[in-house]
Amino acid sequence: ASDNARVTATLFPGHGIGPEISDAVVKIFDAAGANIDWDTHHIGEPQPGGDLISKDALQSVLKNKIGLKGPMMTPIGKGYRSLNITLRQALSLYSNVRPAVSIPAIKTGFDNVNVVVIRENTEGEYSGLEHEVVPGVVESLKIITQKSSMRIAEYAFKYATDNKRKRVTAVHKANIMKMSDGLFLECCRAVAKKYPNIKFDEIIVDACCMKLVRNPGDFDVLVTPNLYGDIVSDLCAGLIGGLGLTPSGNYGEQASVFEAVHGTAPDIEGQDLANPTALLFSGLMMLRHIGKYDVADNIQNSVMKVLKEGKVLTKDLGGNSKCSEFTNAIISNLNK
Ligand code: NAD
Repeated sequence: ASDNARVTATLFPGHGIGPEISDAVVKIFDAAGANIDWDTHHIGEPQPGGDLISKDALQSVLKNKIGLKGPMMTPIGKGYRSLNITLRQALSLYSNVRPAVSIPAIKTGFDNVNVVVIRENTEGEYSGLEHEVVPGVVESLKIITQKSSMRIAEYAFKYATDNKRKRVTAVHKANIMKMSDGLFLECCRAVAKKYPNIKFDEIIVDACCMKLVRNPGDFDVLVTPNLYGDIVSDLCAGLIGGLGLTPSGNYGEQASVFEAVHGTAPDIEGQDLANPTALLFSGLMMLRHIGKYDVADNIQNSVMKVLKEGKVLTKDLGGNSKCSEFTNAIISNLNK
């Protein structure tokens, strides 16, 4: 889409601080002329048949092909599956992309982080296959398939090529999980051969964590099975200043859904205290995904200005401002 084209996207405001930060993103997009029409769906209410996501909501994402999602809380107990996992599996959002890039205005121990974690999003330990074998013994199945491992490896190398990245590192524990992680690794090696211009290497997940916290600048693109990606990407979020700043995109063949990686923050819900940056940056990934680069750059530059000035910051960033004040500051700094 060009920057002027009107595009419809599905919006799931989510729970807790979700509606507040979604509202902030909608306001900023409108002020910047992003030309997005939102098809809003509130999900999480039990549907007839026991699902937590209505058919209308799923149909909306499949029709629009893009969605922005606030954090969600799955009702505990009653056997409901996590809403996030259900959404990823129902829409086959197989690739979770989480960039962690240092923001100059946010001081952390490092200023040279520029890592992208590409995580397999549909299987591994998150297959949801657990049962009690006998009392006191449970079994949880970790499923690794050649099909999904090839698909995520292809995605990672294509991502690296499209985004002018130089290196892809496969993260694994194949020394212990010889068959499952071994298969994942074999698939990465096979795909790497087709991309001679991208350097490929492998690292065991524990060593990867140690090296990331010592010298994150050594890493470029990481491709991981589901569980390691979940953990390593939170570690990377910590390196650049925390969950309030890190966006993510879930990409599939039929649709893509963009979301902040933090949760519903029940401790600050409804108080106008949340930092909308992570959801906003997820929204920028969505805008770039559909080719609206200029408007995404304009919003990003404005956020960077507000962070650099440091006068209007939410509490988690060390300031005293409300979510709405931070939102207004971003709007005032847009290039009109
Ligand atoms: P959380 O991310 O909601 O909160 C952790 C801490 O970070 C809290 O102190 C919170 O106030 C703070 N925080 C998080 N986001 C913030 C923001 N944007 N601005 C300012 N501060 C922020 O994690 P949690 O407390 O472990 O989980 C709460 C609920 O969220 C749980 O029900 C969990 O299942 C759900 N959750 C959902 C998702 C998702 O939908 N993607 C992800 C993680 C957790």
